[in-house]
Amino acid sequence: MYVIVTGASKGIGLAIADKFASAGNEVLICSRNREVLEEAAISLQRKYPHAVIRYHSADMSVREHVQVFAQWSLQYGTPDIVVNNAGVYLPGNIHDEPEGQLEKMMQTNLFSAYHLTRALLPGMMLRRSGSIVNICSIASLHAYEGGGGYSISKFAMHGFNQNLRHEMKKHGIRVIGVYPGAVMTDSWGGFDNSSGRIMEASDVASMVWAATQLSAQAVVEDIVMRPQLGDL
Ligand code: NAP
Repeated sequence: MYVIVTGASKGIGLAIADKFASAGNEVLICSRNREVLEEAAISLQRKYPHAVIRYHSADMSVREHVQVFAQWSLQYGTPDIVVNNAGVYLPGNIHDEPEGQLEKMMQTNLFSAYHLTRALLPGMMLRRSGSIVNICSIASLHAYEGGGGYSISKFAMHGFNQNLRHEMKKHGIRVIGVYPGAVMTDSWGGFDNSSGRIMEASDVASMVWAATQLSAQAVVEDIVMRPQLGDL
């Protein structure tokens, strides 16, 4: 299978790329920092010689970069699975978060997925198969203290996911929304997870993998995941 994962040089995206690479798939990854991305790609290729790993650095918050990335990826064919994962988490509250913070998160967390999906969908619709996986968040579903612009952008991503699911039913394309609670990645900075309080990125990857392995007539619409002890 040909799998595209955005924002996959680390964290949840890298764990998803790792999962698909481990099964010998062709996996294409992107992120902004070229060096870190290249390191991730080389390390995946070494770990899974039977997989094909390709990478392309792109700032997915910039529409033109998304278009270039999409065209580059289409030279390898029509993807079977697209994981819209690239995202940035900047905590804040609506009344006092820095000016422009909402715009930055809307561009990275929502517009990236919207434009990439629109660029890749025509081939998938023609072929009438494939999966689009949208990494939303628990912050897509509930307001909380410190949610601010991040939560707004993730509510928007939820809206994108729901509408796409509705549109793609008749085109044979699965649309899967993933709503994780806290996952141990760089987004959590120096959080001490030695007690296993929050989830691992591989937990999300396992669920994305499972949801994409069903028969063509089945779809897992929403994957809601939380730490066993609940939200922090
Ligand atoms: P992370 O560890 O910070 O990794 C983010 C990845 O996305 C990196 O590879 C980063 O690389 C890339 N990225 C960021 N901005 C980008 C841009 N403009 N263009 C291209 N790539 C970009 O984050 P994470 O925690 O794994 O989060 C991944 C996704 O899961 C996000 O959508 C996030 O909102 C969602 N999520 C996370 C949690 C959590 O608790 N961790 C919970 C729910 C949902 P560069 O910086 O080099 O670009």
